[in-house]
Amino acid sequence: MYRRLIVPGAIAASLLLAIPASAADFEPGASGIGDPYYPTYGNGGYDVSHYDLRLKYQPKTDLLEGTATIIATSTQDLSRFDLDLGLAVSEVRVNGKKARFARSGEQELEVTPVSGLPKGSSFSVVVKYAGKPSELKLWGFTSPQRTPDGAVFANEPESAAWWFPSNDHPLDKATYDISVAVPDGTQAISNGTLQSQSSKLGWTRFNWRSSHPQATYLATLAVGKFDITTDKTADGLPVLNAYSKDLGANEGAAKASVERTVEVAEWLESIYGKYPFEALGGYVPNVPSGFALETQTRPFYSPKQFANGANVSVVVHELAHQWYGDSVSVKNWKDIWINEGFARYSQWLWSEKEGEGTAQELADYVYAQHPADDAFWTVKPGDPGAENQFAGAVYDRGALAIQALRNEVGEKKFFAILKGWPQQHAYGNAEVSDFVAYAEKVSGKKLAPLFDTWLYQPVKPGAPALSAAAGAVREPRSFKRIAATNSIHDVR
Ligand SMILES: [Zn+2]
Repeated sequence: MYRRLIVPGAIAASLLLAIPASAADFEPGASGIGDPYYPTYGNGGYDVSHYDLRLKYQPKTDLLEGTATIIATSTQDLSRFDLDLGLAVSEVRVNGKKARFARSGEQELEVTPVSGLPKGSSFSVVVKYAGKPSELKLWGFTSPQRTPDGAVFANEPESAAWWFPSNDHPLDKATYDISVAVPDGTQAISNGTLQSQSSKLGWTRFNWRSSHPQATYLATLAVGKFDITTDKTADGLPVLNAYSKDLGANEGAAKASVERTVEVAEWLESIYGKYPFEALGGYVPNVPSGFALETQTRPFYSPKQFANGANVSVVVHELAHQWYGDSVSVKNWKDIWINEGFARYSQWLWSEKEGEGTAQELADYVYAQHPADDAFWTVKPGDPGAENQFAGAVYDRGALAIQALRNEVGEKKFFAILKGWPQQHAYGNAEVSDFVAYAEKVSGKKLAPLFDTWLYQPVKPGAPALSAAAGAVREPRSFKRIAATNSIHDVR
């Protein structure tokens, strides 16, 4: 807009001086980061670099008390900004000074600092808060799980708002120091490395550090009584696994699976390149749920995953996510295929290595399982919609797309793509079209039509890029075991 001002020059100049040059331009940051599936998730106007969470959790009462210190940089002239948190807040400070705050929507915490934050400035936010996470409903549901001896915070995409204030979207990754005090005799398990622990006046404090960029939904906390195993990898990375002491009949199978974490990670390194993080492990708390989640450096596994015996396939799935999902994360939640298609395909590759059915045989079998009129084919893995974000087709049809790519470009280029991609976007974010472009670059082939067929058309691809003749398809030995891990998606 051009506005003509008819005033004598001298007066115009003094008017300009009278108005603080910036105040008028300072605006609130958006209440969402711009995700088409979840418009209010995350926030606009700033970028977080570090979360320091100092928490205290009492298993008897489920009371969580926290002080979160957030280090961020403004990406616009900010008069106000939002954080995402459901628990009750008692005080907010910005750069040390008390700030006004208000609630809106389901999880928005609107923070108004005493003075605006100019674009590009680094600032600190301290939020003091408390509440009982299991009693908190957001969007009509509860995310964390209580256990007989504690609680577990692990879910996707909604998890953080039940235990810490954040910019709750994978686009804004940060490092974390998570310090949790729990009653003596109880442990707190989180991501990364356990830096230290100490006990005082009946409370033991565990200090965890995640030193690589981590998405909010990949931050996890489990409080309870655990058997803990520790080790070091050949490369010197610390390994820490934790198992609830009351896993009952599932204990042996859980340990026989998760204790193979280092072996699985070494095998994945041979396909995807160097393991991207500073620590390794997994934990199996005594939760009633059936799912598993790729929480960074330390995946979460429900005991039910081990109800039929050892299940290394689910360990393969969650560890593959450390490359495909955790290091390279979705730009928006519609890009979920770049996580789940590859985690599922990793299970197929493990089956191939174990001699329990090649990826091709699994692809043929999955393809044959779903007739053309099966609703399975109406889900577009490349943009499944929020309601189908974790539908079976995102995994299985998603993996079919990857087998189709393998057949199109050949073994050498296929595995070069699989290994190159996590390096190309390490610790960042990417979308489906970025993968298509990368595969085209590495292979020198035009692949957009292939991905359009397998990821975006709501019909069964007519001419399978797969090998087997119809009717001649036998069930691979690993099929049922891999299908049994489908409950990893039932997160609610
Ligand atoms: Zn997954």
